[in-house]
Amino acid sequence: MAQVMKHANWIKVERVPQPVPTHGQVYNSRSFPYAKQRIKHGASVSGTEVAAMPDKQDPPPVTAVNEGGPSPYVLLCEHASNHIPAEYAGLGLQSPDLRRHIAWDIGAADLARLLSQQLDAPLFLSGYSRLLIDCNRPLLTPTSIPTRSEDTEIPGNHGLTVDERGRRAAAYFTPFHNRVAATLDRRARAAAPTIVVGVHSFTPVFRGVARPWQCGVLYAAAAGFGQALIARLAADPRLNVGDNQPYQIAAAEDYTVPVHGDQRGLPAALIEVRQDLLATPKGIKEWAQRLAPALAGVAAGFRATSRPTGC
Ligand SMILES: [Zn+2]
Repeated sequence: MAQVMKHANWIKVERVPQPVPTHGQVYNSRSFPYAKQRIKHGASVSGTEVAAMPDKQDPPPVTAVNEGGPSPYVLLCEHASNHIPAEYAGLGLQSPDLRRHIAWDIGAADLARLLSQQLDAPLFLSGYSRLLIDCNRPLLTPTSIPTRSEDTEIPGNHGLTVDERGRRAAAYFTPFHNRVAATLDRRARAAAPTIVVGVHSFTPVFRGVARPWQCGVLYAAAAGFGQALIARLAADPRLNVGDNQPYQIAAAEDYTVPVHGDQRGLPAALIEVRQDLLATPKGIKEWAQRLAPALAGVAAGFRATSRPTGC
């Protein structure tokens, strides 16, 4: 698989604040020429931790934590990592850019791991930077492998062949979502109530505009669940909780909520926490201790089970 990565390229996106942006509105998609590409999905990952490891030194595309956990929550962290294989030469970016939000969700992985512990919930963490391919975007959307993120051009994502896009999907995207789908299918067969939650973080300032929310809950079909969680968090008068802020879910531009949640008839949402509040281990711990009881408190009202659908 290592040689698959010879011509790297990639990107990730940030989203726009006004009025309530969808993910794709933030990206420059002018150079996206692959409207009808064929994406070949990778092999099933069932029974293995590593499905498509591109290189010995590189991490697996998905890390599953407490996969059999009894919690109704199934947690995802699609932007957990800023890792890019060496073959891609950082996609032409300097290392300071690769440590920015454009490459990953700062603090989200550690927060998600604490939530997994406190809720006794399964958690799936992606192993690679969203600059390579975004695990929370449909494969055919321009923002799946963006050529620009915020105001940063991603040289390594320009001019990709259909084959290269397919390789990235097979190496980083499909193994992650196949693993999540296998767990959701298993829970469906067991008639286990399930709620899907993605754990994310967002920048305090976007294009010069300060964001007033400490956290946000993003949802689409599961408005009852989303609003119940918001109400629970907003009971703390110190918190300004975004209701579908700072982003809005759009089926054409999001993956986790539409595919793993809404299409299965499961309650589903993304939780977004402002990154300055996750800048230290103490801050991350405080947010886990705030979010875990809120999630546990609303779970009882949402006992949905789904049919198996596959990824
Ligand atoms: Zn994110």
